[in-house]
Amino acid sequence: MKRFAGKTAVVTGGNSGIGLATAKLFHDEGAKVAISGRDQKTLDEAVKTIGSDILAIKADVSKSADLDRMYNEIAAKFGKIDALFANAGIGKFAPVDQTSEELFDETFNVNAKGLFFTVQKALPYLNDNAGIVLNASIAGVKGELHTSVYSATKAAVRSFARTMAAELVTRGIRVNVVSPGPIVTPIFDRLGLPKEAVDEFARQIVAKVPMKRFGQPEEVGRAVLFLAGQEASYITGVDLMVDGGLTQV
Ligand code: NAD
Repeated sequence: MKRFAGKTAVVTGGNSGIGLATAKLFHDEGAKVAISGRDQKTLDEAVKTIGSDILAIKADVSKSADLDRMYNEIAAKFGKIDALFANAGIGKFAPVDQTSEELFDETFNVNAKGLFFTVQKALPYLNDNAGIVLNASIAGVKGELHTSVYSATKAAVRSFARTMAAELVTRGIRVNVVSPGPIVTPIFDRLGLPKEAVDEFARQIVAKVPMKRFGQPEEVGRAVLFLAGQEASYITGVDLMVDGGLTQV
């Protein structure tokens, strides 16, 4: 029997990178899957990649009205939700002295505020015993160059999980975090840094990873499915690092 047969899974930012790989794994394990993202073209492509009966919704997690519409559409098509992967996020890097107020606001709006309301607005639609997984980052516990704002949003995500887990335990809903290390996704093309700086950042970070390689999006996705499903029935509030040993070894 497939692990998520008869279940509904929602993945924000399911049209790219880690979210897309995770949505595909949920689908392969029998779930009805809804994905969201901001770009219609990549949403359409993701539907083709993932397979049949996918609901793809254009919705910006930083806009409350979009989240309301998203959950209404999901409820109308699939009913209640069993697994939520709050994954959508952006990474824009800059040194502290060159960080604009705009970069600060945008990053917090998507990664912290957007994720918070992704969970809050899901609550009426979640089945009791649902699993919520929040995508943070090892950046939340590290001090890498040029990541001050991004890293702070991810520390906020980790903190949300603790309080949300405490509040939702009465409904049997578990809230856990995955913190990826460097993973091969298009996020590195969107950092807002020149290509040479991105290459240098990648070289430096991979040199610090005990496994000496980038991770693949599916390697994060498999951890998400574990935490979201009943195999993790006695686990809540944890932060599972999927980072080739970077933060632990
Ligand atoms: P990606 O750029 O491929 O995917 C990001 C996804 O988020 C896209 O689908 C995009 O449409 C969506 N998104 C961005 N802003 C949105 C918004 N306002 N509303 C709705 N959707 C939005 O990058 P990725 O690496 O797959 O990133 C996914 C998550 O993983 C992010 O939260 C990121 O911070 C986290 N992460 C990535 C890495 C890595 O090395 N790739 C490491 C640690 C954490």
